[in-house]
Amino acid sequence: MGTSNRAMDASAGPGTVVFRVRRFDPDSDGPSDIRWSEYVIPAHPGLTVLEALLLVQEEQDGGLAFRYSCRGAVCGSCAMVINGEVGLACRTQVSSLGNKVMVEPLPNLPVLRDLVVDMDVFFAKEESVMPWLRPSDPDPECERLVSPEDWREAEPYTNCILCASCQGVCPVAERAPDYLGPAALAKHYRFYADPRDGAGEERLRLVDNENGVHGCDMVWSCAKICPKGVPPTKGIGKTRAAIYHAKKAREGA
Ligand code: SF4
Repeated sequence: MGTSNRAMDASAGPGTVVFRVRRFDPDSDGPSDIRWSEYVIPAHPGLTVLEALLLVQEEQDGGLAFRYSCRGAVCGSCAMVINGEVGLACRTQVSSLGNKVMVEPLPNLPVLRDLVVDMDVFFAKEESVMPWLRPSDPDPECERLVSPEDWREAEPYTNCILCASCQGVCPVAERAPDYLGPAALAKHYRFYADPRDGAGEERLRLVDNENGVHGCDMVWSCAKICPKGVPPTKGIGKTRAAIYHAKKAREGA
């Protein structure tokens, strides 16, 4: 995960926390374009890591770059590594981290600057699994209704906020850049399991390969880290089973 074990130089006084932030400047032509910056900030109950970074940016270092938007665990923009663990900065309490906090960008994605990673490839993989409904029956007069029972299978996968935390902890994403990744495969299963969809066979073909569901190590790290309770590994396992049964059915036909 690229976490440094170097000791922090600045020390925290009473009521303060030392933030050590990994920096990256793509325009630097120095001996190393990666360095660490340390900031001592006043801590108070309820302070989140995102609020602490905003304090740093407003009061100490306007050049510190990080991504955020909603501040409420809805937009998925502020995923990063905090004291060695991937999490959303907006919902991580500084009080839970002690008086020294180390912050790094999300792994397995190219770093653009400081804590900002390039999400283009992540979103392109999402797009490649056809994340839209493809009903096979004619459009109804009104909307397509689904009963709560029929919706139960797809529902957990609709909660994804595209934060890429799962990408950051996925061991396959670390070693195989073309692997679709847990978020895209979870999105794939969300539409495969949607009772209104009619593109099942075509959907299975999209991920029936080593960069798709067969590439997964099934270690469940994505499901454990997901801030929204999405279980990508479970969906991947069910997709593999569906591929197997579809092949069996074709052989028996
Ligand atoms: Fe984030 Fe969970 Fe979606 Fe992965 S599956 S992008 S961890 S919300």
